[in-house]
Amino acid sequence: MQIIDGKGLSQTIKNEIALKVKEIKNKGQKTPHLAAVLVGNDGASETYVANKVKSCHEVGFKSSLIRLGADITEQELLAEINILNNDDEIDGFIVQLPLPKHINEQRIVQTINPEKDVDGFHPVNVGKMVKGLPTFLPATPFGIMTMLERYKIETQGKHCVVIGRSDIVGTPMSILMSRKNNPGNCTVTLCHSATKDLKKETLRADIIIAALGYPEFLTADMVKNDVVIIDVGISRVKDETKKSGYTLKGDVKFDEVSKKASFITPVPGGVGPMTVVSLLQNTLLAHANKKII
Ligand code: NAD
Repeated sequence: MQIIDGKGLSQTIKNEIALKVKEIKNKGQKTPHLAAVLVGNDGASETYVANKVKSCHEVGFKSSLIRLGADITEQELLAEINILNNDDEIDGFIVQLPLPKHINEQRIVQTINPEKDVDGFHPVNVGKMVKGLPTFLPATPFGIMTMLERYKIETQGKHCVVIGRSDIVGTPMSILMSRKNNPGNCTVTLCHSATKDLKKETLRADIIIAALGYPEFLTADMVKNDVVIIDVGISRVKDETKKSGYTLKGDVKFDEVSKKASFITPVPGGVGPMTVVSLLQNTLLAHANKKII
């Protein structure tokens, strides 16, 4: 069994990005600049955004954090997005999800200029991904594809089971794994809350991508030997022994499933850091090619 070290790999990629940023600066070009919009003060969102800002500084990007109150109206948020859309200094930006319930997330995502949509959530970019055209891939699936590529994990002709069909992870993951690419070229089964016999599906899988958000859901009896496991889930589970009061758990029961797996990602230190680094890669792409759309 080999652990896919997302933390280590993300550091390698950050070093590669930092070198490119140095070259950009040496040529006298504008420094890549990522902005993040954070609405309200959800604990998990705060942590994610803080990580993104910290990573920007590590690679030499500029970053801006736009904090807005939870009571902001949809119109006011749309106005903020239009400012970022028209600000030539900003190469790419993200609006951290989830948003407060009174704001229509789809409307917000669709207002972001697709050329600056480094999260890859705008329908124009999703459409390009489906067609296999160059675009910003959503950060988590992008990070997973990079892990599979860098660890040279054989995917062609394999049966890949994706658990979860969210717009940001499961659905794009199923599309990318089925495309005629490397990594990819898999036979893909996309499972979700209405799947009748999930265990029957996972037992047939050569590769499992678990993204449902239930701590330690996937157990050893649900997988076959030598399976490749990508654990996307991050759940905060109460833990009185920890200073924070919680511990992070993935969707996979790591201790037992790792004994059967050929490759497995840990939580934390697996998919999470790769998601952040993919956002940096997309920002570099936005900076390099303003004519991507
Ligand atoms: P979501 O909550 O939007 O969707 C969950 C999906 O799981 C749904 O499509 C649902 O149909 C499916 N599902 C629920 N119960 C199921 C069951 N019993 N069997 C099969 N499918 C079932 O999920 P999301 O936003 O994709 O997030 C999933 C998990 O991944 C969460 O823990 C989230 O925190 C984590 N996440 C991690 C990263 C990262 O960078 N590591 C990024 C995004 C999300």
